[in-house]
Amino acid sequence: MIPAETKAVATKGFAIDGPEAKFEPFEFTRREVGPNDVLIDIAYCGICHSDIHQARAEWAPSIPSAYPMVPGHEIVGRISQIGADVTKFAVGDFAGIGCFVDSCRECAACTGGVEQYCMKRCAMTYNGTEMDRTTPTYGGYSNKYVIDEDYALKVNAAGDLSGVAPLLCAGITTYSPLKRWEAGPGKKVAVAGLGGLGHMGVKIAAAMGAEVTVLSTSPSKEADAKKLGAKGFLNTKDADAVTAAAGSFDIILDTISANHDYNSYLNLLGLNGVMVVVGVPTEPVALNALSLILGNKVLAGSMIGGISETQEMLDFCAAHNIVSDVEVITPDRIEEAYDRTVKSDVRYRFVIDMQGN
Ligand SMILES: [Zn+2]
Ligand SMILES: [Zn+2]
Repeated sequence: MIPAETKAVATKGFAIDGPEAKFEPFEFTRREVGPNDVLIDIAYCGICHSDIHQARAEWAPSIPSAYPMVPGHEIVGRISQIGADVTKFAVGDFAGIGCFVDSCRECAACTGGVEQYCMKRCAMTYNGTEMDRTTPTYGGYSNKYVIDEDYALKVNAAGDLSGVAPLLCAGITTYSPLKRWEAGPGKKVAVAGLGGLGHMGVKIAAAMGAEVTVLSTSPSKEADAKKLGAKGFLNTKDADAVTAAAGSFDIILDTISANHDYNSYLNLLGLNGVMVVVGVPTEPVALNALSLILGNKVLAGSMIGGISETQEMLDFCAAHNIVSDVEVITPDRIEEAYDRTVKSDVRYRFVIDMQGN
């Protein structure tokens, strides 16, 4: 009998060994492809801002960082092997992996199709563990991933594959709240912040049929906002324009991770308006209760989406020809990409080409 470890999948990735360290080539093994598993040869992996936060231990101690860390949860590639009981995929299919790779499958969140809120905590794609709570997970800055087919997504190969990668996090992070709060024809949606998340929010809200306005402190982004599908642009540093826009919007999708005053944004909502927060400022926010009470307003949050909704988002984006605007880099440029992402010097997402790895 062949020992199990000889069937483990040899994988080449790029890992960081501590918050101050640099990325280095890192060889490791992934589990043997089990009966329900698929092996994905990774083509592209997006660089999400949360990769940077975790690689640099900026969320510790709330979310500890485990090293060596191979980040990456915006993964697309091609199936190169399937387990005996796999039904959803065939070898050669394009597939994707998002922010988590397993969950308990039994709790109300899992059975309700919102596995990202699994009450036993889902297995994150990296900087986490499998559901056994011991085996560390390594992400998509690597050339292979072994995943249960139930947690892998089908990817339409017709689009630009590099631009599809960021949909797995940035796409679903914006699609899910826009759908929940019913962005669509007749609705005025404001997207606050025009970065990796915001540019997806604009494209998706416009494709849903809403009238989109970008709220930004950078007037230089107006031309881009319009190109992405926004009808309006509000420079939030222009006090007169902000006053004139009070009560204008049905939904604000707040993607801003810099500290900012929620009250002034809530003031832009009309009656029954909803502001849904997906950006995470570093400091707690001071909220005046009257910002909600006057106008019957809702302040909500949202975190990625479940597997079925992520599939729905990928299918929606394929049908509407939506991909992320990306700058593709080789793995030796991860540090540079991190520094430029922190400075918002990217339109709008870096994606690592893992094929040459
Ligand atoms: Zn992400
Ligand atoms: Zn669960």
